[in-house]
Amino acid sequence: MEIPDRPLEIIWDVTYACPLRCSHCYSESGRRPSRQLDRERMLRVADAIVAMEPYGVSIAGGEPLLVRGIVEVAERMTAAGTKVALFTSGWTLRPEMVDDIARAFSSVSVSLDGATAEVHDRIRGRRGSFERALRALELLDEAARERRLGGRERLSFGIDCVVVRGNFHQVEDVCTAIAPRFPDLGSLSFGAVVPEGLASRAGFAEHELLSDDQAALLGSGEYGARLRSLAPPFVRVSATDNLALQMHPDRVREGIFFPVLQIEPDGAVRAMAAYEGTVGNVLTDSPAELWRRAVERWHDPFVVGTLAPVRTMREWAEATRAIDHRFGSEADRARMDRRPEFRPTAAPDMG
Ligand code: SF4
Repeated sequence: MEIPDRPLEIIWDVTYACPLRCSHCYSESGRRPSRQLDRERMLRVADAIVAMEPYGVSIAGGEPLLVRGIVEVAERMTAAGTKVALFTSGWTLRPEMVDDIARAFSSVSVSLDGATAEVHDRIRGRRGSFERALRALELLDEAARERRLGGRERLSFGIDCVVVRGNFHQVEDVCTAIAPRFPDLGSLSFGAVVPEGLASRAGFAEHELLSDDQAALLGSGEYGARLRSLAPPFVRVSATDNLALQMHPDRVREGIFFPVLQIEPDGAVRAMAAYEGTVGNVLTDSPAELWRRAVERWHDPFVVGTLAPVRTMREWAEATRAIDHRFGSEADRARMDRRPEFRPTAAPDMG
């Protein structure tokens, strides 16, 4: 892929508020101010996103369903023809919200980091989060079925699983034991945890980042085919090592990168999705200029020099820490310096 002249995908983390405490959280949500915009400015960000004409926008966070007015914001983009995907833990999803969600979003992904409560809750840092995620999936499944049978516009929903060392052994169980419980499930996505945010900590890299063999397996076509063979035939299954997010200079040259613009809750725009460091704000800067600055950062001598020698997942985590400290703001650096060390634990609420 050539570097396009505009971002093809947008990720907007609409809040850093979150009821969960995932050990791998890339945005450190729930442990920092939410930085949420008011309604009027959120709608301005939505308009700016529509003007960029991306293939799609992912609404993430933090927990987007905590944001008052998120349905109106999503509807604004959907009405303008933009595909809007919602990423949620499902913790706050209540039955009365499902119709609004189905109307405003083109797809919904619920995070599920294991096939058992023991594994999921430990990774997600809160007891009961597995049951809540399953309940959210049940609600979406029921709504999808009703809409299908009633001839109404389809509701597309899926499961999104972040793969770490502590749940790698359950990836196949998600296909065989979880997916069949939801007959209208549309997709199952498995992505290797990216060493960004809290997942870039040295202790996390040592204990929970996938080994290089595991990451290679997850990214291989053979394993993807195996997972597809295990899941129900009606489910689209994808698995990735997420190396496209690394922005390694060799891969960027080969066209293996993710042409995404990541927007923080207050409209600030990251130069690279997986790394700290912003290049402006969608509320004040033109999209073309933001994209130009972002692409310039990919080729910054410090970025290239730091990522060029990276060959392993652990080296990637080290490189992330260096890039984050180099390009993060003073407040970012202070936050990173305050991060608790990662300690492996058998129970939630301790990671
Ligand atoms: S649910 Fe998402 S935003 Fe919340 S702590 Fe977990 S990874 Fe972070």
